Amino acid sequence: MNSPTPDPADALRPRLPSPLRPVADERFERHGVRLLLKRDDLIHPDLPGNKWRKLAPNLRAARGRTVLTFGGAYSNHLRATAAAGRLLGFPTVGVVRGDELADRPLNPSLSRCAADGMRLLFADRTSYRAKHEPAVLARFTADAGAAAGTDPQDVYVVPEGGSNALAARGCAELGAELRDDPEGVSVAAVACGTGGTLAGLAAGLGPGRRALGVAVLRGGFLGGEVRGLQRAAFGGPAGDWSLEERFHFGGYARATPALDAFAADFEDRHGLPVERLYVAKLLYALSTLAAEGAFPRGTALAAVITGRPDAP
Ligand SMILES: *Cc1c(COP(=O)(O)O)cnc(C)c1O
Repeated sequence: MNSPTPDPADALRPRLPSPLRPVADERFERHGVRLLLKRDDLIHPDLPGNKWRKLAPNLRAARGRTVLTFGGAYSNHLRATAAAGRLLGFPTVGVVRGDELADRPLNPSLSRCAADGMRLLFADRTSYRAKHEPAVLARFTADAGAAAGTDPQDVYVVPEGGSNALAARGCAELGAELRDDPEGVSVAAVACGTGGTLAGLAAGLGPGRRALGVAVLRGGFLGGEVRGLQRAAFGGPAGDWSLEERFHFGGYARATPALDAFAADFEDRHGLPVERLYVAKLLYALSTLAAEGAFPRGTALAAVITGRPDAP
């Protein structure tokens, strides 16, 4: 018997709008900048931050079908998708980058996915990179159907990192929450992986405000990704946004002692658990930019806290 598919927006009971809280930090105040933390990490315990905002509209579109998606061995997006599958009762399949992982015990992140019922398929790096090509995607979709015991026609594909047009539209809500907040945010900053969150944030902020994206990967491809996502989601450029690509610290999941020290100090000062892959680089970038005088005096600067550290 089929029960109606619950609307994920209701069934997952997200905490929205997420809280926006000022923090007193003299490294910003000295330069006339008011720092606020947009606590998207508090939206949902299992689908924190932008992962909820990006997945919710996709889960609505999937209508309970098997969801196939992609990620690295420590992907927050894979974990969020697996958790949503458990909570809402739909099948999930994750294609993981790196076929060498198939012969090893699962790391804690992938163990969590498996415990939530996600079927894991391990792809060699060449196929993984080619996952957008129709023939390769068709093979993954067929494999996912077989793994989940469903017809490949009933497999709904969510791209790596969860970023597509629906996701960018979901993240426009983040911009709209900031736009409508009486704190009078003038600049909103977010750490970027695939750029889906920035694409939506900028669109939702509306005129007179700007979005700033801090890249945590190296490579200089992000601007093109954000433009492409905005074209797909909004039909063209939307909102005022720019990128900072100086703060990747060597690349994804790379860090330096200075970054670690900064993050630990921020936790001590403000009691905010600082997620290290994205949020630490965002906050470090913002404090450096403030010191460089990049923000006019009187700026109300919202830092979007997109996630929190993993529970031990
Ligand atoms: C996934 C993720 C991001 C990056 O979001 P994109 O939309 O891919 O740019 C930022 N912060 C955290 C904590 C994330 O998990």
